[in-house]
Amino acid sequence: MHAVSPSTTAIVDEVIDYARRRALFTEVPLDRPMAPSELARLAGRSISRDGIGARRALGVFEHVLAPSCLSTDHPGYLSFIPSAPTKAALAFDLVVSASAIYGGSWMEGAGAVFAENEVLRWLADEFGLPPGAGGVFVQGGTVGNLSALVTARDAARRRYRAEGRPMPERWAVVCSAEAHSSIASAAAVMDVDVVKARVDERGRLTGIAVAEALEGRRDSVFAIVATAGTTNFGIVDDIAAIAQAAADADVWLHVDGAYGLAAMLAPSTRHLFAGVERADSLIVDPHKWLFAPFDACALIYRRPGAALAAHTQKAEYLDTLTESADWNPSDLGIQLTRRARGLPLWFSLAVHGTEHYRVAIEDAVAKAGRLAEEIRRRPGLSLVREPDLSVVVFRRDGWSASDYQAWSDGLLGEQKAFVVPSSHAGEPVLRVAIISPLTTDGLLREILDSLA
Ligand SMILES: *Cc1c(COP(=O)(O)O)cnc(C)c1O
Repeated sequence: MHAVSPSTTAIVDEVIDYARRRALFTEVPLDRPMAPSELARLAGRSISRDGIGARRALGVFEHVLAPSCLSTDHPGYLSFIPSAPTKAALAFDLVVSASAIYGGSWMEGAGAVFAENEVLRWLADEFGLPPGAGGVFVQGGTVGNLSALVTARDAARRRYRAEGRPMPERWAVVCSAEAHSSIASAAAVMDVDVVKARVDERGRLTGIAVAEALEGRRDSVFAIVATAGTTNFGIVDDIAAIAQAAADADVWLHVDGAYGLAAMLAPSTRHLFAGVERADSLIVDPHKWLFAPFDACALIYRRPGAALAAHTQKAEYLDTLTESADWNPSDLGIQLTRRARGLPLWFSLAVHGTEHYRVAIEDAVAKAGRLAEEIRRRPGLSLVREPDLSVVVFRRDGWSASDYQAWSDGLLGEQKAFVVPSSHAGEPVLRVAIISPLTTDGLLREILDSLA
């Protein structure tokens, strides 16, 4: 074996030392974005002909670049969907990088793919999918939704062809107005139409609304998307009734659970997801509510064969990979080269056990419930909707959009919390999404206090 040079060893040591320190911070700094001019002044140029060396480059990162990136794992980061990777998962992410694993094929990454499949199997069992179900970890929910919809359309095309039915002029996907923007974005990429079905008084897509949306366009709809926990409110569609409507019309059912489907693991919210077991495909993002680092989406198909038919790339140099009956993750989504991005979750699940996850998810749901209770109790604040999962939306009576913005800027300025104003039905509101076990009731109360 050749020796690694002392200078290379020093680079690796410096980087891993920094990563170790950051991973073990007891108080994560929230930080804040800087303007390009400010960053240009502070960071200057790092890339030069001869390099500036590990110490200086790391110094630029630690002292300038990192403080200009919000720490999404800060307990006060409550906007969008926060992240809260377990230490086990984030540390193991370094191992995935160090191991140079190609996760696209069984031939190259068998061990990694085996472990990822164990996680996917566990999830599929939790969601009630049959033994034949399987999938792949892709980059995120957007890519997961797109991959699933491409599979659904491909399956429809093949069936129409086999049955000698004429193809529609335009294909369409049905979802609710509350569906995530990535559905519309996938439809744009695929050049298909989006039919937005109405929601009920609780904001849910129902079986009746889906049946209405299908009226007169049954032949052109290739998929129905039910959302298992909308990003804005955490609303779970009536999946059981939608599944029945999809079955009646013989249309593919995709469940977008990027954020919310994790709550099916928690005993108190499990019932909200009845019907998920009938999905043809579904997604859940481990980087959201399954405590894994960015970026990972678990995409699972009831019949993976449909995905293989749609996604397997047929380049000649790939033939040795595709001619075997092995499980090649790249054949199930729109990507080829892939990081074994399911491994951090596999390691953390193996270390902690599944009960740990149920408890942590349940804890976030309970905290959201207590926050809602507190908001109801306080004069001057009103709840926009009773939370089902861990998103709480409320308003401060009498405030305009600029009042909310000034308050939000102040909160970030103090480095207390990151809560950006949102809007609902054209009205400014506040939205808090709780994921991290470190987000305390005390911090949430302090945030409410600052609205007085
Ligand atoms: C976050 C989210 C997505 C998109 O997932 P990314 O990982 O950000 O690409 C899709 N659908 C829902 C419901 C989401 O919450």
